[in-house]
Amino acid sequence: MADGCACDRHAHMYLTVSDALDRGLSVADPLTGTETLPLTQAIGRVLAEDCASKLDMPAFDNSAMDGYAIRTSDLGAEPVFDLPVAGRVAAGDSGTHTAPKGSALRIFTGAPVPPEFDAVLMQEDCDVLNGRIQFSHRPKPGQHIRRAGEDLKAGAPILRRGCEIGAREAAALAASGYGEVEVYRKLKVTIFSTGSELRQPGEPLEPGQIYNSNRYMLLALLNKPWVELTDRGPVADKPALLEQVLREACETSDLIITTGGVSVGDEDHMPRLFSAIGGQTEVMKVAMKPGKPIMFGRCGDALYVGLPGNPVSAYVTWQIIGAQMMARRAGLHRVERTPEHAVLAEPLQRRAGRQEYRPVRIDGTAPDGTPRLRLMAASYSGRVALLAQADGLAVIPAETEVLPAGHRLDFLRF
Ligand code: AMP
Ligand code: MG
Repeated sequence: MADGCACDRHAHMYLTVSDALDRGLSVADPLTGTETLPLTQAIGRVLAEDCASKLDMPAFDNSAMDGYAIRTSDLGAEPVFDLPVAGRVAAGDSGTHTAPKGSALRIFTGAPVPPEFDAVLMQEDCDVLNGRIQFSHRPKPGQHIRRAGEDLKAGAPILRRGCEIGAREAAALAASGYGEVEVYRKLKVTIFSTGSELRQPGEPLEPGQIYNSNRYMLLALLNKPWVELTDRGPVADKPALLEQVLREACETSDLIITTGGVSVGDEDHMPRLFSAIGGQTEVMKVAMKPGKPIMFGRCGDALYVGLPGNPVSAYVTWQIIGAQMMARRAGLHRVERTPEHAVLAEPLQRRAGRQEYRPVRIDGTAPDGTPRLRLMAASYSGRVALLAQADGLAVIPAETEVLPAGHRLDFLRF
């Protein structure tokens, strides 16, 4: 730089990433509509009610082992105990079995332990001969019995509203007796990519044209059971056309995501068009790299996120800001992603001013096991193929100019 200043001189005019995110979240109201669905159809959706167990878990005393149920009061002082086996209880039986005093019951894992029986012997610890068992180790009362309610009492909370119903949540809901649950309605999302240069992969390219990568990136990022997606494909940089598509999207969507056209060039129409159709712009400039041109705001009930056109910038701004706004809008409670620690494998020099998310590859580990990061390139916002080879993003604080090899950084692993 001619004046010797190693900083981005306009950075102070921009919002910090965390202020921008706060403002984004403040306009991303959670959906209010919900629906009740059978559990099979609720998988992958966002839970809209706090759930408590409908029953004690386990619901009845049951055996934790395959073996033999006994009454410890039947055992005397003999060195080897010897009991006849008087019956059999398997998982699914009612557990109302009775057996004469001084006898054992064959029992299997998950089978109800009949009244008065107070211990289960593992079959590995018994010798079995002519319908009798012999064992030498005296069991303690309660051994290998899972008591009713010992995991959870009926009425105890199991899940909070705002979680995504994944495998673990679905299993917990099923075990607690939920045949159906209340979930948020699907989030209606419309996407389109602005740019007269964009062509669909598979078509031939004319001079000056490029393939539309952002569309496919967004299709992948939005491939979620709680999203109802409208894909308007590419839209040329023609104000009347862009305005029409934007206006329609505002009327029918909870969230609109566009790429490109949010910068300051003559062909960057989105900020002006968004205002023209009545949109309230919340944020225009964020001190982040990549991704300086990003905007978001609200138009009626629709939330609008205008991502930069450069694919790496679009990806990073989406991950750092857009995805969190969408999650909140969909009813998900906020789960802050905690970055890992990592160390630089090589020194770093850059211009201070903007918080940077630099694509990196993991190159071995430091002696304490921390991943070592190799920087991929200093200039990368359009290099989308590079992103596919990266292992994650290194977070470089806004004020940082130089860092030595071995320096610790936050690392967001893909
Ligand atoms: P813009 O933000 O519209 O000025 O675009 C910035 C850069 O990103 C330009 O080089 C565009 O050609 C490129 N670009 C914009 N949209 C896309 C897209 N959907 N796929 C790939 N590159 C894009
Ligand atoms: Mg453009």
